Amino acid sequence: MQLNYIANTSVVSASGRTLPVLDPSDGQAFDELQRSNAADIDDAVGAARDCFDNVWQKVSAAERGRLLYKLSQKIAEHTDELALLEQRDCGKPVKQARADALALVRYFEFYAGACDKLHGETIPYQDGYSVFTWREPHGVTGHVIPWNYPMQIFGRSVGGALAAGNVCVVKPAEDACLSLIRVAQLAAEVGFPPGAINIVTGYGHEVGDALARHPGIDHISFTGSPKVGTLIQQVAAERHCPVTLELGGKSPQIIFADADLAAAIPVLINAIVQNAGQTCSAGSRVLIERSIYEPLLERLGHAFEALRVGPAAMDLDVGPLIRQSQQQRVWDFLSDAQHAGIPMVAQGVIVDEAPDSGFYQAPTLLRDVPVTHRLAQEEVFGPVLAAMAFDDEDQAVAQANATQFGLVAGIWTANGARQFRMAKRVRSGQVFINNYGAGGGVELPFGGVKSSGYGREKGFEALFGFTTLKTVAVRHG
Ligand code: NAD
Repeated sequence: MQLNYIANTSVVSASGRTLPVLDPSDGQAFDELQRSNAADIDDAVGAARDCFDNVWQKVSAAERGRLLYKLSQKIAEHTDELALLEQRDCGKPVKQARADALALVRYFEFYAGACDKLHGETIPYQDGYSVFTWREPHGVTGHVIPWNYPMQIFGRSVGGALAAGNVCVVKPAEDACLSLIRVAQLAAEVGFPPGAINIVTGYGHEVGDALARHPGIDHISFTGSPKVGTLIQQVAAERHCPVTLELGGKSPQIIFADADLAAAIPVLINAIVQNAGQTCSAGSRVLIERSIYEPLLERLGHAFEALRVGPAAMDLDVGPLIRQSQQQRVWDFLSDAQHAGIPMVAQGVIVDEAPDSGFYQAPTLLRDVPVTHRLAQEEVFGPVLAAMAFDDEDQAVAQANATQFGLVAGIWTANGARQFRMAKRVRSGQVFINNYGAGGGVELPFGGVKSSGYGREKGFEALFGFTTLKTVAVRHG
């Protein structure tokens, strides 16, 4: 039985209710977690406020850095354990779960080093004045986290918020919280004071909503769907609480005829099948210059057919989707494609060992997807790649920008001038040239434009969002 973690103590929910934890590889329940409510959020915010006011504010930036570094090292000692939890909870193949645990180590390492490098400025002003700015933490920050990359998203948002001097109340997704409860326990073991990191589990419309509404939350970091992002923004606006939104994407990979296709193909595949396509920055559209459209589709088709899908523990190319409703969502998209006459080029293979009760979906490559069709517009959040052809740069830009999203773009060309022109013209928060980083490294600011959200997490830039700027003007004499 999993418990909430408030003020470094494992506690049951005030509701007395629980939710089952399902293994996506076989659809069976293997644990229970707390179905918390507003009273639990109130307890967590109270503990966090007490910690901020009486303890955390008095900890020096250098000491905060040391604590974050100790946590990174502690997580490093527990990567196998954490990876196993996330493998079972999220249905991630072993290598992906391990990569996420190592990313979590790296987030805390990076933000440990950043703590004592965040400072304000002096500003030249009128004679007789000294003016300077302080970067101050918001106070108690709320973090609503999705199920697709719990450890990575915790690392980037909670790591950044703590480094900037905040304390955190975290609401993991109801589908995946096991690793985060364990990380909060590890934080207590290395000396984080009670109330610095609090975990409250349960449904979004119950406990997530209560967190967003709580007057003691000074900033909200939300990663999830555009629909819930809108709700959070509306609720937060009622009390003018600042929000960072990391929402979805329909990210294009744009392949010109002069691209190194041997280098591009494995990256194109990985960008859509990693985590079974349940990645906000998945490269879910491939725009191909017409002269290489047919030969590249043929090569991509062979690569799709070689993909193997099965239980997370088998560590194949692709694991299951997170839950049955997500599987149904992907099926609905594919059935719409079929009705619209969109041709399927190729599919991967679900292995015989995959239980029927698991939530599997074979990676699927579709071609000639009209730019206005929902497969080219909406996030499938599954391993489905939509291909379309373009004739020139202008058309490539028009197609790339023709969705409500703007998170990441990949541009593949050997022409240096075109690399820069395209990087400038594509509307997205990140652009990769001759590569695709699926979110990029820990150091690289990440976030979107348009309906992909606003604000930036990751990198040093994130620390500006987790602080507020105070201007101090001193009149001499
Ligand atoms: P979701 O929006 O349904 O859930 C995200 C989180 O919000 C969960 O913890 C959920 O419990 C909570 N939530 C749900 N309703 C709520 C409410 N009314 N008030 C407060 N909290 C609520 O999204 P999901 O299905 O968990 O994740 C998939 C979506 O997340 C996709 O659209 C994906 O693109 C997006 N995503 C974005 C990023 C990014 O960095 N941009 C990263 C991962 C996922």
